[in-house]
Amino acid sequence: MKTFKSILAFQRAFDTDEKCREHLELSRWNGTPVCPFCKSTNVHRHPNGKKFNCKVKGCRKIFSVTVGTIYENSKIGLSKWYLATYILTNHSKGISSLQLAGWLDCTQKTAWFLNHRIREMLTENEPRLLSNVVEADETFIGGKAINKHKSKRNNTKADGSFNPIEDKTPVLGMVERGGKVITKVVTKVNGEDLKLFIRWNVVEGSTLYTDELAAYKRLGKLYTHETVNHGSGEYVRGKAHTNTIEGFWSLLKRQIVGIHHSVSPKHLQRYTNESAFRYNQRGLTQDVKFEQAIGRCEGRLKYEDLIA
Ligand SMILES: [Zn+2]
Repeated sequence: MKTFKSILAFQRAFDTDEKCREHLELSRWNGTPVCPFCKSTNVHRHPNGKKFNCKVKGCRKIFSVTVGTIYENSKIGLSKWYLATYILTNHSKGISSLQLAGWLDCTQKTAWFLNHRIREMLTENEPRLLSNVVEADETFIGGKAINKHKSKRNNTKADGSFNPIEDKTPVLGMVERGGKVITKVVTKVNGEDLKLFIRWNVVEGSTLYTDELAAYKRLGKLYTHETVNHGSGEYVRGKAHTNTIEGFWSLLKRQIVGIHHSVSPKHLQRYTNESAFRYNQRGLTQDVKFEQAIGRCEGRLKYEDLIA
């Protein structure tokens, strides 16, 4: 793996599409090209270097390393994709499309598209179960009450669910202490969704800390479950607290409010994924973060899907 001490060094290493393509071939295929259509390694490189021929009878497709990745059919050169990926994976709070357009010397529309596609690339493909000590919580994104703690709102119903608020979108989140965070954007918070979200993502027998929200009471005996009563001003009782996940929520909100100002619910999961990716990669070097992001380039988000 190449290492880059600065963004300048990074730009020098990837200043042409050619250099980026060579890197992508190594990253994706580790030196052995694979046909993206039939997965055969029986392929031949064209003399021009860019394209490959599949030699398997019945396939015989021609392809380049970008086929099947988010870069496929893109009019934007790979060197711009690479620079945008480096900036977005390493900037602690993400950057706006306007800023990115300035950095890349492209239109804001192009930057917006790159921003969204790279955010999609940062989506966790194989989530690992959380274990040991896990904090679960929910928050609301958007609207004027964005910074209000839920104990200060008057919209909790008797069964523990919330009345959906017109301009806010609920997000569920869990973090393993010392480990990673997982988020899920939902249309409303209810006990059944919370239970499934936790059961799918947390190893049985783990210790789970939540607030006193009634929706968490359905978890039965699967976990060692303790709550802190935020409603009556209790935030920490021994090891029982939700400060870690609350810390993540404030990072997420700073990113969304400070950088993007507002986010439509349709795109919110991508933003929470991006924040979770950064949070989960904390402590890694910039180079490792970049390589891991490029390693997730398979699968595409089409422009039509974005604007649908
Ligand atoms: Zn093939």
